[in-house]
Amino acid sequence: MDQQKQFWIERFRDAGWQTDRFIQGMMTTPNFYSQEVVQVRTDTWYKGRVVLVGDAAHCASPFSGMGVSGSLVGAYVLAGEINRNMGDLARAFAFYDKTLRPFVNEIQKVNPSLLRLGMPKTRFGISIFLSVTALVALLRIPDVVARFSPEDRDGGWRLPEYTQLNPPKNARRHHLR
Ligand SMILES: Cc1cc2nc3c(=O)[nH]c(=O)nc-3n(C[C@H](O)[C@H](O)[C@H](O)COP(=O)(O)OP(=O)(O)OC[C@H]3O[C@@H](n4cnc5c(N)ncnc54)[C@H](O)[C@@H]3O)c2cc1C
Repeated sequence: MDQQKQFWIERFRDAGWQTDRFIQGMMTTPNFYSQEVVQVRTDTWYKGRVVLVGDAAHCASPFSGMGVSGSLVGAYVLAGEINRNMGDLARAFAFYDKTLRPFVNEIQKVNPSLLRLGMPKTRFGISIFLSVTALVALLRIPDVVARFSPEDRDGGWRLPEYTQLNPPKNARRHHLR
């Protein structure tokens, strides 16, 4: 942790604005967290009776977003396949992988060149970036883009229907008091 703090001090020392105050705060806080931004990509989501869900299987990263959606959808597909293949976990896990994999491939897509544009490394690059983003905000371009973009990030992937997971229509509701 000390080495990580030293790394950030070297990077931000004399950077101006409030960075000295941030560095001071970083040195004294009991809550320090520094982590590389990564994606988890593995061809292996299960082995024997052990199966991975959510971030453990396919962490998407803050750059691509969709981590919570991916985890919830994955848990739903896993539950659906276990129910559909009652008593045969190997088959359930194989279908979980086959069904979910195209969705995960879609939500993990990140364009590295776009990321690089958003993280300029020189003062000149930062000035250009700030000017362009100010203009984009002023012209409300994100609103326009959002209006004409598809709402879903799933690339046309459809959530499977698992009738076994739906309560029977005549099921009585039990209210907890
Ligand atoms: C900075 C940041 C910003 C993010 N922003 C977004 C966002 O805007 N939108 C979005 O959709 N996603 C976002 N995510 C991703 C999202 O938080 C995750 O994808 C999601 O929480 C994954 O859910 P999970 O249940 O798989 O894992 P987690 O939420 O990490 O849950 C795993 C749980 O397991 C527990 N655990 C670990 N080891 C053990 C053990 N040995 N025994 C018992 N329990 C254990 C942990 O304490 C934790 O509670 C962000 C993530 C980060 C880090």
